[in-house]
Amino acid sequence: MLLTRVYDALLTVAYPQSCLVCGGSVEERRFGVACQACWEATQVFDAVETICWKCGALSPGIEVTPDVRREVRCRRCDAQSFAAARAVGLYEGALRESVLRLKRQPHLSSHLIDLLAAAAQREPLNTATRIMPVPLHDQRTRERGFNQATAIAEALAKRLKIPVDAASLERVRGSEKYRAGLDPKARRDSVAGAFAVRHPRLVDTENILLVDDVFTTGATVNACAEALLASGTGNVFVLTIARGKS
Ligand SMILES: [Zn+2]
Ligand SMILES: [Zn+2]
Repeated sequence: MLLTRVYDALLTVAYPQSCLVCGGSVEERRFGVACQACWEATQVFDAVETICWKCGALSPGIEVTPDVRREVRCRRCDAQSFAAARAVGLYEGALRESVLRLKRQPHLSSHLIDLLAAAAQREPLNTATRIMPVPLHDQRTRERGFNQATAIAEALAKRLKIPVDAASLERVRGSEKYRAGLDPKARRDSVAGAFAVRHPRLVDTENILLVDDVFTTGATVNACAEALLASGTGNVFVLTIARGKS
C-alpha cells in the first residue's frame, strides 16, 4: 500500500502530466495538477480584496480603504472561536483539483506551497508560532493512509521554518463521513467536543496556525480552536487551501 503510494508519487514527479482542469499540458512541474493558465483563472486571494477580517469570507461589491480592512466583519462568524481564518483562494479550478489530489496523495506542488506560505505570512496569521494539522480520526487516517492536513502542515512548516505539532491535538470521536448532508447547526453539534488537547503544556501560550484542506462552515476548525483555547493557547489562526464562495 505504502509502496504503491511512493511509486505513484515518484511517477508524478518524473513525468509531466496533463492539467486536471483543462486537459492541456502542465508546463512546469512546480504547478502540480494544473497548467499555468488554469492557475491564473483560479481566484487566489491577494490581500487587497475585501474579506471578513475574521473568517475570511469574501464581501463582493464592498470597497473599503486599506486602513479599515481590519474592521470588516460578516457577522456570521461571531460565535466562532478562532481569531482569523484565511484560505489561499476559492474552491474552484486549480485549487479544487489540488485539494482532490491531496486526498489521494500526500504531496503538494511547490506552487501551492508558495501560495500557502504567502497567505501564512500576511497579518494576522504571521504571528503564529506553531503549525498544527486538523487531526483525522485514527480510523480515518488508517483508511486513507495519511492525513492530508498533516501533509499541508509539514510542507508549510518546512518552508516557513516554524515548528509543526501534529501530536498535541487529537480527534477523540467522530468521523466526517456522515456529516455531508447536515445543516450548519447540526455540523457544529456533530464536532463539538470531538477534539482534545493531549499535551496542554506544549500549546500553552503558543499562537497556533491550524491547517486543513478546505474551509466550509468552519465547524471543524472552531471545535479545534475551542479545545486549544481551553488549554491556554494564545490565538488560533486557520489556513486552508480553499474555501467556499459564501
Ligand atoms: Zn489547464
Ligand atoms: Zn466572518
